[in-house]
Amino acid sequence: MFTDERSKQIVLVSHCILNQNSISDGTADYPAAINEIVELLLKSNIGVIQMPCPELLCIGLDRGNIHGCEEPVVVENTRIRSSLNSPSSTQTIKTLVKQLVYQIEEYSQNGFTVLGLIGINRSPSCGVNTTSMNNREVDGEGVFIKALREELEKKDVHIKMVGIKASEMEKALVSIKKLVDNSPQK
Ligand code: SF4
Repeated sequence: MFTDERSKQIVLVSHCILNQNSISDGTADYPAAINEIVELLLKSNIGVIQMPCPELLCIGLDRGNIHGCEEPVVVENTRIRSSLNSPSSTQTIKTLVKQLVYQIEEYSQNGFTVLGLIGINRSPSCGVNTTSMNNREVDGEGVFIKALREELEKKDVHIKMVGIKASEMEKALVSIKKLVDNSPQK
């Protein structure tokens, strides 16, 4: 089964890696996609799952504050984080996580390799190594990544997660190359 041309290699990426239009006001570093990352993944024949943008789906494109971009990023991120902990956001995140876990399990059970996930550090939602809390960037995970990791762990599924920043592209590409180099096809 699935012995056609597909690579059977999958990576999950935060939504804004492919679509910077989703990001909170004032924080986009690219006009559309983060080209260097997309080029690296495409060149490596890795299928890309674009994860949903939890902030857009929970609290909207303006994140519920049209003046958000006037605040320092970590201050606005801290406000966003508390909005993501509301009952309705928690429910939405739960649904999004469930759909992703289903996809990861389907690929794994059918012999595909899920190489890992690429998240966005400092994000209150998608941070992997750092997030925003108490008006600071701190070590830790964003709300969405934490919920996803915990749900995967319940099912004894463990995938590599790397966090990047679009403003630190050299460092980001080194981390992503490590994921890509784990491909069994290498
Ligand atoms: S980091 Fe996550 S929440 Fe923020 S724009 Fe990207 S996908 Fe959306």
